[in-house]
Amino acid sequence: MAVTDYTIATLGSHSSLQILKGAKDEGFKTLCIAKKGSEKVYKSFGVADEIISVDHFKELFDLQDELVKRNTILIPHGSFIAYMKIEDFKNLKVMYFGNKDVLEWESARDLERKWLTDANIKIPRIFDKPETIDRPVIVKFYGAKGGMGYFLAKDTDDFYEKIADHINEKYVIQEYIIGVPAYFHYFYSLLNNELEIMSFDKRYESNVDSIGRISARDQFALKKIDPSYVVVGNIPITVRESLLPEIFGMGERVIEKSKQLISERGLFGPFCLEGVITPEAEIYIFEISARIVAGTNLFEPYSPYTYIKYGKPMSTGRRIALEIKNAINKGKLLDIVC
Ligand code: ATP
Repeated sequence: MAVTDYTIATLGSHSSLQILKGAKDEGFKTLCIAKKGSEKVYKSFGVADEIISVDHFKELFDLQDELVKRNTILIPHGSFIAYMKIEDFKNLKVMYFGNKDVLEWESARDLERKWLTDANIKIPRIFDKPETIDRPVIVKFYGAKGGMGYFLAKDTDDFYEKIADHINEKYVIQEYIIGVPAYFHYFYSLLNNELEIMSFDKRYESNVDSIGRISARDQFALKKIDPSYVVVGNIPITVRESLLPEIFGMGERVIEKSKQLISERGLFGPFCLEGVITPEAEIYIFEISARIVAGTNLFEPYSPYTYIKYGKPMSTGRRIALEIKNAINKGKLLDIVC
């Protein structure tokens, strides 16, 4: 079958415009599953050949037979994870780009930690008992959307004082790494057995990115300004070129370990390592996202790095479609979908 016999579909949210645009550019039919009320905006961009309206994204499961009939390939992004359980994913009948076995590893903090440390990647220390806090820490709540409610604590007493406002919430206490945040976007092609650096971003977070606009004197005068990390946007960055070998190596090690720890195919497609770079140029990673991240939306039509490699528009969304197109042309589609 030809590329035009397939439909690339995704949920209308997160990075869907980029995914659908990339799919159209590579010659696929496109379908957007949009929440009622948001159809108009998706229609206005002209990247979805078809829009199916739903009240809730979970209705994707009721649409499965329809999607299978259209030879649909679903592209997951952050909203899939936010709205659906891993079990739901596993039962999907529609072709899904990526390896579903990876989902458990990235969503369970202990497995994620094992994966990263086995890949020889530095991660912030975790304090299992508040009594052992011996340096500044960041306290993160499970399922916190966009860093809502996270707080910093300088010692055990400070921790207990601040945690009092969060009774019954699950949290993790992580060493606070002093440095600049950076999110590293990669693409690993299973077909070519090749890792690509796609782009980098940092997040624009309220209020932590605005506290520096208020002098220390005024911060004291205003009494209680706790930093918060609610993501409101993304800012593109390039990194010092001398950091690229380490960043590339981290991506390679994560892929290699995933093949040993998770399953034969391991992690493939787009992924992101999220971390902090210290003044000593050490890179600490506190999270891995095993799919396209919203920070790549900045790089439509391309990033400095994808332009150097491809010399033409190549967003992460388009790279996904290109991989699927190459797989179809080589008769290897089943190798890269679940
Ligand atoms: P997700 O990526 O799942 O949406 P999140 O947005 O809820 O996660 P994180 O990305 O884990 O939260 O972190 C939010 C903010 O806190 C980011 O600015 C990040 O740079 C910062 N941060 C997280 N962990 C650390 C750490 N250990 N040391 C320093 N800064 C950190």
